[in-house]
Amino acid sequence: MEYKRITVTQPYLPPLNEFIPYLEQIWNNKWLTNNGPLHQQLEKELAEYLGVKYISLFSNGTLALISALQALNITGEVITTPFSFVATTHSLWWNKITPVFVDIEPEYLNLDPTKIEAAITDKTTAIMPVHVYGNPCKMYEIQQIADKYGLKVIYDAAHAFGVKMNGVSVLNSGDLSILSFHATKVYSTIEGGAIICHSEEMKHHIDNLKNFGFRGELVVEEPGINAKLNEVQAAYGLLQLKYIDGFFAIRKTITENYRELLKDIDGIHFLSDIENVIHSYSYFPILIDDKVYGMNRDELYEKLKENNIFARKYFYPLISDFEPYHELPTATSENLQIATKVAKQVLCLPIYVELSKLDIVRICLILKKEK
Ligand SMILES: *Cc1c(COP(=O)(O)O)cnc(C)c1O
Repeated sequence: MEYKRITVTQPYLPPLNEFIPYLEQIWNNKWLTNNGPLHQQLEKELAEYLGVKYISLFSNGTLALISALQALNITGEVITTPFSFVATTHSLWWNKITPVFVDIEPEYLNLDPTKIEAAITDKTTAIMPVHVYGNPCKMYEIQQIADKYGLKVIYDAAHAFGVKMNGVSVLNSGDLSILSFHATKVYSTIEGGAIICHSEEMKHHIDNLKNFGFRGELVVEEPGINAKLNEVQAAYGLLQLKYIDGFFAIRKTITENYRELLKDIDGIHFLSDIENVIHSYSYFPILIDDKVYGMNRDELYEKLKENNIFARKYFYPLISDFEPYHELPTATSENLQIATKVAKQVLCLPIYVELSKLDIVRICLILKKEK
């Protein structure tokens, strides 16, 4: 019997008939992009929903990262994690900044603050951590170091939509945070992203940067880029926002189901919730200890694939192992011991709104080697 194909993620498309009225609005407005009315409404609703003051929408998360670095005039060297999606480091490259890789901590796989100070040189200007899988970084410790050395902090918060710690959005930490609204993310505008900042002045600056650097009609203050979100995407985002709380509830249930079904398997480890944190349950990563489990990550990945289940090796290879970066002095496995080990063990299991309980059971039976 051929089982249905299950991928690591799948977008949830709201009922089409609910999207039509938005399109009618756009057709009536004849305003397609450049801070249109739906764009303005989405910025307002997102700021409210996320609990942040200023948000500037972008056409994608990568351009938001690139523009965030530009907005703060970051140069020289930036300390960052190798355990992320490649766009994190690419954004440094596009700004002619040298990435300095620092290892991750073993518990939540985020940049290890205890290893940051040793990597600081007189060229260091900023730290760019990532809230990997939506688990908050050790933000307090990172800020302490940044303050001590006068460094900026830019969070790649692409996985941290809706994540709160002690009732406060993690997006309020650091100097700037960026989000991605790509189709594979928890909250999506098909393609899209945002920068969260803390002053109206900075928001204006960022808004100019994403519109070629124009300030008003006739003045160009900087070589900006075109990274604007259009009205159709803003409409999609407004509709998604109506469903988002339901998405989170379902993702939480899926996570709990996985945890329950996998908890007694020797050699399989998963991340637990953090106290006082509202999680987004964006991903469900497991770590496979091959000696105990009796099968390594790649073997398990293949076995799932044979059963038409497409898990993903996020994040393998490490960014520091990719061609453009592997010759950097900090891109060595000696320097990145934990990241190197984790990258060989990690596997992200399918998690999305329409994943059924039966699907989860089927996946877990394979992991339990009962199938
Ligand atoms: C998705 C993602 C990005 C890039 O966002 P896009 O919207 O796809 O450009 C950057 N960083 C991380 C950690 C991501 O997961």
